[in-house]
Amino acid sequence: MRYISTRGPSSQTQQSSGPTFTDILLGGLAPDGGLYLPESYPQVSIGELDQWRALPYAELAYAVLSKFIDDIPPADLKTLITRTYTAEVYGHGRVPADASEITPLRWLERPDAARGEGGLAILELSNGPTLAFKDMAMQLLGHLFEYVLARQGETINILGATSGDTGSSAEYALRGKQGVRVFMLSPHERMSPFQRAQMYSLPDANIYNMAVRGMFDDAQDIVKAVSNDHAFKARYKIGAVNSINWARVAAQVVYYFKAYFAATGGMGGSNDQQVAFAVPSGNFGNICAGHIARMMALPIGRLVLATNENDVLDEFFRTGVYRPRATAETCTTSSPSMDISKASNFERFAFDLVGRDPAVIRRLWAEVDAGGSFDLSGTPFFARLSEFGFVSGTSSHADRLATIRHTFEKYGLMIDPHTADGLKVGSAMRTPEMPMVVLETALPAKFEETMVEALGRKPERPAGLQGIEDLQQRVEVIDASVDAVKRFIEQQVDA
Ligand SMILES: *Cc1c(COP(=O)(O)O)cnc(C)c1O
Repeated sequence: MRYISTRGPSSQTQQSSGPTFTDILLGGLAPDGGLYLPESYPQVSIGELDQWRALPYAELAYAVLSKFIDDIPPADLKTLITRTYTAEVYGHGRVPADASEITPLRWLERPDAARGEGGLAILELSNGPTLAFKDMAMQLLGHLFEYVLARQGETINILGATSGDTGSSAEYALRGKQGVRVFMLSPHERMSPFQRAQMYSLPDANIYNMAVRGMFDDAQDIVKAVSNDHAFKARYKIGAVNSINWARVAAQVVYYFKAYFAATGGMGGSNDQQVAFAVPSGNFGNICAGHIARMMALPIGRLVLATNENDVLDEFFRTGVYRPRATAETCTTSSPSMDISKASNFERFAFDLVGRDPAVIRRLWAEVDAGGSFDLSGTPFFARLSEFGFVSGTSSHADRLATIRHTFEKYGLMIDPHTADGLKVGSAMRTPEMPMVVLETALPAKFEETMVEALGRKPERPAGLQGIEDLQQRVEVIDASVDAVKRFIEQQVDA
């Protein structure tokens, strides 16, 4: 499998000469500023779907991922995947009847053909070590990084900025891994006590937390400045694990298959049935994986994109206008992991929408990268949106609270504010012909304040995380200065 850039010269000339999976694993953007995608999507036959239906999660993950990864020997890839997707790693959240399911499907309303009801379910993706769905892909990334670095005799220093979920997920995935150090910047005293405890209490020697005296944006700007210093970046082997990383998207494709099989009758079910997925979205990584599963011929009837008040993506799917917001226009909401001004993975879907023509993407993103917008309404591309199964909607703070309350009263289930955005939008888009599966992107324990506001009580905390705030913490508090961060990295790496 070769990979191409969404902004590459043209897909023809790149064919069979582009990079392979491990070539792009440790990098970020393509050199031309585009995002990597497979030169074509592997197709899954009905026969394969029949076989895959019965597979446990790790074996299904191998079946799906080996279609995208052909430069790691199969036995090694199998080992890495088998080590990742275990009941132990994904047994931190609600205790499911069978943790070996990895991503259990929980019906809120079972399908009832006689009554014309398609059914409504929650897909549990947040039982990994940091209680958010990012662990689904990040844990695999940790194993892949360690393997590829060892093979190449290299090391890497991951530098990132986080306001919560991504940083902790990366640290838990990379802790103790050979050849990798993690330098994670977070805004000093601005994360919740739980989030701080999650990150700062890690004892591993290869994890460095830096609390920057400033806001998240300051931390992010420092990371950008350090990465733009090419000499420093090369000398200190600076890398990233951000949401545009192709391996993260690929790993997320797997659970759409797993959920499809679970929602259509398990072992004896049928592969004719369509299923709808509702996805709480920010950077468009999660739902992009659903789009790719659908392009591989998984019968996904609808992809329902849910945003919060930051509705950049909903605006696009309703009107054809893609207008990234300025930071000042991005509001802080009670589903903070969806507070984005620009959806970094969206370019991948746009590439498919415009018929994989990199010249069109170069033209559209010349506007976006200059701080502008583009408008596809009135073009043939806009008319094709429904061919790709996408619909969208938004959810507000009041919607989240009402949905959390309603879900608890009616089904006895506590859901987090992000999942509530997905459930609110997904519920409005239900049809009698297909089950609606809402992706659970975090557990309520991470967002106590909003849960108390909605329900008047704290969410349950999974076993093992009680009293996490009392553990000893390791964090370096530093000024919001590029030099201070560089000096800290130099001291640790040169030591
Ligand atoms: C990251 C995140 C999202 C958004 O996912 P994208 O892949 O960026 O669209 C939604 N909910 C939670 C809890 C997250 O951590």
